[in-house]
Amino acid sequence: MSKILGIAFAGHEAAPLAAFAQRLGLPFDLLVLTGNAETDLGAEKVLSAGLSDLPPASALVEALRAHATGYTHIAGISSMASKDVLARLAGALDCAMVTDVIAADSPTVFKRPIVAGSAIATVEVLDPVAVLTVRPAGFGQPNRGGSSAVETISISAASNVVVTNRVQGGGARPDLTQAKIIISGGRPLKDAATFESVLGAFADKVGGAVGATRAAVDSGIAPNELQVGQTGKIVAPDLYIAAGVSGSTQHMAGIKDSKVIVAINKDPDAPIFETADFGLVADLFDAVPELTSKV
Ligand SMILES: Cc1cc2nc3c(=O)[nH]c(=O)nc-3n(C[C@H](O)[C@H](O)[C@H](O)COP(=O)(O)OP(=O)(O)OC[C@H]3O[C@@H](n4cnc5c(N)ncnc54)[C@H](O)[C@@H]3O)c2cc1C
Repeated sequence: MSKILGIAFAGHEAAPLAAFAQRLGLPFDLLVLTGNAETDLGAEKVLSAGLSDLPPASALVEALRAHATGYTHIAGISSMASKDVLARLAGALDCAMVTDVIAADSPTVFKRPIVAGSAIATVEVLDPVAVLTVRPAGFGQPNRGGSSAVETISISAASNVVVTNRVQGGGARPDLTQAKIIISGGRPLKDAATFESVLGAFADKVGGAVGATRAAVDSGIAPNELQVGQTGKIVAPDLYIAAGVSGSTQHMAGIKDSKVIVAINKDPDAPIFETADFGLVADLFDAVPELTSKV
């Protein structure tokens, strides 16, 4: 009998995992590592670990392995944490892994983007157990109702790796992967202070997150954790405003699930205008402050 274990590294990941399981039509349990464990998502059981912080991946894998027996699918939301932990778990369980699942044709046949999102691969899992990471945008909202049984579980953090410090990026702004609005910038932002004063001010005015291209990150204009794209974060906001972003394949791979993309670029031939829903040919140093003052 097929059954899914959805592993939510943070409480808010439980809902999209439930949506994924519901679309597959399989029964599921949810294991919530940190944050609130919602009980109306249709899970047979909610396992709540109640951790305040995630332990190092090596410790987490050993603990999760003990909870993974009896499931045919072990799924997490695509994120840095899931890539780190679930790949190790697939290795420990010696089973197949499919990352960045965007659709499912059946409980064993999945679609995932390849070549920076310019092609979609259909892959079939032949192993009895599959470890999956899932992009929430493909599966909508879960049906809610009922009340799942909640079991408190203990996750042992015993490890030879000691976390000495945690640095939270982004300050009070929303997390990039959760944000409804993202204001993103590229190489023309010049330096960290300009990036913050131009884009940060706009983001704060609209309650959004700030994102950056890899060129901006590599030039020291924006911190690493703000990078959006193929080798950065995959985002799916309602509104993505890209200022001074050329629209490289690698950047666009991270934003294509955005509902509305707005590009501000002074070059009318910039590739981003081919994908953007709205385009403004303008100097961002004029346009963004003006937008900030008018919103
Ligand atoms: C393996 C690999 C992985 C990669 N992964 C990523 C990734 O995850 N994310 C990512 O972003 N990139 C990634 N890249 C890099 C990517 O190829 C591009 O180099 C990068 O996205 C370009 O960033 P940019 O648009 O900021 O810079 P540029 O290409 O320099 O473009 C700047 C744009 O700003 C415009 N502009 C200049 N001045 C102004 C102004 N004053 N007002 C308005 N517009 C202005 C220009 O017309 C131009 O279109 C990757 C590359 C490789 C090879």
